Amino acid sequence: MSCLFCKIIDKEIPADIVYEDEHVLAFRDINPQAPHHLLVIPKKHIATINEADEADAEVIGRLSLTAAKLAKQLGFADSGYRTVMNCNEHGGQTVYHIHMHVLGGKAMGWPPY
Ligand code: 5GP
Repeated sequence: MSCLFCKIIDKEIPADIVYEDEHVLAFRDINPQAPHHLLVIPKKHIATINEADEADAEVIGRLSLTAAKLAKQLGFADSGYRTVMNCNEHGGQTVYHIHMHVLGGKAMGWPPY
């Protein structure tokens, strides 16, 4: 398996893991774009959100619930944060295992370009 995030799930590559359960893993982004920058991923390999299907509905919901849980635990939920899932080239996706970015700890602008 050559997927970088599958290797992090399998602990073949180290990461600063902040949460793990049967379905999802969350760890700090190696190149943070905010004081808090987490990545929440499903343990199932799904390359892009375009490849997700009905059977993945629950785990995709868990990504958002995990993001909110961690934002509360780490203390940036009330001030606010952003969740982002990039898809394919125009979306800026660089790792092809779906991941929810969770960015917090500073005010962010909109639109994101
Ligand atoms: P994307 O560009 O696909 O939306 O986001 C991929 C994210 O993965 C980037 O923010 C990048 O910094 C992060 N990343 C890439 N390689 C690693 C790694 O080896 N470890 C960690 N923790 N994050 C990584």
